[in-house]
Amino acid sequence: MESRSSVSKINNLEYEVLQLLKEDSRLSASEISEKLGVSRVTISRIISSLKEKGIKFTVEFYEEGEFTAFIVAKTCFSSECYNLIEGGYMNIVRSNNLEEIHKSLSNVQKDSVFVSYGKKGLKISPKLVCDYCGGEINEKPIKLKIGNKIYYACCNTCYTLLKKKKSK
Ligand SMILES: [Zn+2]
Repeated sequence: MESRSSVSKINNLEYEVLQLLKEDSRLSASEISEKLGVSRVTISRIISSLKEKGIKFTVEFYEEGEFTAFIVAKTCFSSECYNLIEGGYMNIVRSNNLEEIHKSLSNVQKDSVFVSYGKKGLKISPKLVCDYCGGEINEKPIKLKIGNKIYYACCNTCYTLLKKKKSK
């Protein structure tokens, strides 16, 4: 599960799931299945397969700024890449334009693994954390949608405080 630097192929459906997870990294399998019109079982299978390939779903682009994509590939295609001990390269693509990152990602998707997007830094964390207190969420998170941004709270108290803070 932790072999995030293994090189695997991503198929079209997996790529579409990733596209959705890019918008909201915490979508559930049933929410994704609804959006893509594919059965929940299939989506669950795809998510496990993506996880086995070491793909983390952390996506943080709630704010404007520089985005960083970490892509493990057989080749070094970006200006910033690191040789991995296990073989292959960790390519780092930075841009203020998400579309640009998507483009570089789709160009190499055949033989690479998209690891993570992070805003100004590497954020590889499969753990869901509360957007108010920063604590780990183990229960079902409480969603808070403001505009086109989705926030997550660990409890009702955090939800109320987060709502107050964000609606200022
Ligand atoms: Zn909290």
